[in-house]
Amino acid sequence: MKFILALALACYFSSGDGVVYICDSSLSVAYHFKRDCRGLNNCKHEVIKTNQADAEKLGLKICGWED
Ligand SMILES: [Zn+2]
Repeated sequence: MKFILALALACYFSSGDGVVYICDSSLSVAYHFKRDCRGLNNCKHEVIKTNQADAEKLGLKICGWED
């Protein structure tokens, strides 16, 4: 069951807009493509892995620190 779920998630992410990272803080305004982004270094909360579409739904904008 877990395997099927993982497979479904893998398909979901590959067909989506890609994996992004967000800081689990009410103050966060951006999502990041890199886990080690400078913007995430300031995160005092948990860093959550999600996808770009969901991050946009949360009202987050692309981070300005990315290359
Ligand atoms: Zn960033």
